[in-house]
Amino acid sequence: MEISPVQLEELVHEKIKEAGDEGIAQTELATALGVSNKELSSALKKLILKRLVLKRSMKVDGKNVVKLFAVARDYSRIVVNVKSMHDVPCFTCNILSKCGNGSQIGPHNCPKLASWLISQL
Ligand code: SF4
Repeated sequence: MEISPVQLEELVHEKIKEAGDEGIAQTELATALGVSNKELSSALKKLILKRLVLKRSMKVDGKNVVKLFAVARDYSRIVVNVKSMHDVPCFTCNILSKCGNGSQIGPHNCPKLASWLISQL
């Protein structure tokens, strides 16, 4: 039985949601759903444009892996007071692109961010 692009998109979204905080690699997802990478890429593009899914690069066993994560719908409706964030060091950080989970530097061990957080107490 063949499924429509809309059904595939829904199926892909559900599978990514099931992966939860662990996320799921695109190849793993294609295998789990029994679809080609081309079919999967098309569905993913739509989900990413709708901001329902995001891709994040992370280190797994020392290797860089791009994983897919479901975005909670409520995230798009969070209202943030920008005044409270204007001096967060990450906004002017020159190594922002290298910062994150699985990287050598990240919010978990950043001295600049730690100092700023302490200064906010
Ligand atoms: S956590 Fe530290 S290294 Fe990462 S972006 Fe913020 S200031 Fe830069």
